[in-house]
Amino acid sequence: MTSLSPALKQATPVIVDHALGSFIYGADGRRYLDFTTGIGVTSTGHCHPRVVAAAREQTGKIIHAQFTTVLHQPLLQLTEKLGNFLPAELDSVFYANSGSEAVEAAIRLARMATARPNIIAFQGGFHGRTVAAASLTTAGTKFRSGFAPLMSGVHIAPFPYAFRYGWPEEDAVAFALRELDYLLASISSPQDTAAFIIEPALGDGGYLKTPAAFLEGLRERATVHGIMLILDEVQTGVGRTGKFWGHQHSSITPDILITAKGIASGFPISAIAAPTAVMAMAWPGSQGGTYGGNAVSAAAGVATLDVIRDEDLVANARIRGDQLLSGLQRIGAGHQGIGDVRGIGLMLALEFVNRDGDADPQAATAVQQAAIEQDLLLLTCGARGNVLRIIPALNVTEDEVDLGLRSLDAALEDALSAVRG
Ligand code: PMP
Repeated sequence: MTSLSPALKQATPVIVDHALGSFIYGADGRRYLDFTTGIGVTSTGHCHPRVVAAAREQTGKIIHAQFTTVLHQPLLQLTEKLGNFLPAELDSVFYANSGSEAVEAAIRLARMATARPNIIAFQGGFHGRTVAAASLTTAGTKFRSGFAPLMSGVHIAPFPYAFRYGWPEEDAVAFALRELDYLLASISSPQDTAAFIIEPALGDGGYLKTPAAFLEGLRERATVHGIMLILDEVQTGVGRTGKFWGHQHSSITPDILITAKGIASGFPISAIAAPTAVMAMAWPGSQGGTYGGNAVSAAAGVATLDVIRDEDLVANARIRGDQLLSGLQRIGAGHQGIGDVRGIGLMLALEFVNRDGDADPQAATAVQQAAIEQDLLLLTCGARGNVLRIIPALNVTEDEVDLGLRSLDAALEDALSAVRG
């Protein structure tokens, strides 16, 4: 009998029958509170009626037309609506199917626009699984090992992970910027460096905000040296952090912005945005793909952005995020082994450490598994796997947050007493 590849390993054994809002209904008859949302993909909750209606209607009009051949309305509408949220400088948008593809397109664009080879990425960053994107990814060796050689011309600089260093944030930022300057002086000269690529908060690398001062330091260096600053907002974009873009927690504007995941509530589409003058440096034919900017995905994207605006979901992410964070801090104080509780908007995490202060991935996994028994779905992350991430839908309600906190408290009780014996 044919079966799914073992490489498709699930974090939970749940088989979904259907899903609605913040809940997944399993084929086992159980109802699970979904605090994974496909890593923020189902931004407006599962099967939001307006997203479903838009996709249904579009399916009857046109499903696919390759955008190198003809254009369709949903893509034009999505571009206009995205433009309402994008920084004014980034006035040109290009579409692909996935985050990884958008990352690849952004790298190609930066290299073509600067005629320079090197890309500098940051430790703990996650940018995807295609070979070029994996070359920029250091959120765990599992994303890189075993299929080398990776893309050349990539250098990895330290990320200011203050909690891991045990330093105040400003010391971690000063250290990471000094190391970046050293890298630019010793390995990858500015004349050879096309781009910096960074997430406004580490996603798979540990759900950790990139300090504003660090982004501002990168912006300064990028401007001085003509290096492109690429922000990978695949996980932080579209309201997730309580602002529409993650970088809006700082004062910077990127040269190239990448978005995907939450933009179409689960339909596959990604976008990169850049100034028209930069986008024009990619010669025709160098970018694109068969399914990029699919009409049904684009229509779902239009509906998603409308729902986010009409239901004020960016503000909801902030309000429910604050509720969750204070709940997590309260719960965290009652359990041993939680080294850090953090969150921006609805991107929240618990970092588990053992008695010596080292990463404790067993605890994170044990809590994640115990949560399933409480009908709560969660994911782990972090290069060492010791971070539990909490990613509700942007329209999560007060009651759902309370339910999630109660279930998580019970899971912590079960798992940590078992782990510690
Ligand atoms: N960049 C970031 C920040 C991501 O979180 C991800 C996916 N987890 C990607 C890129 C890759 O996106 P995809 O899986 O759609 O290729």
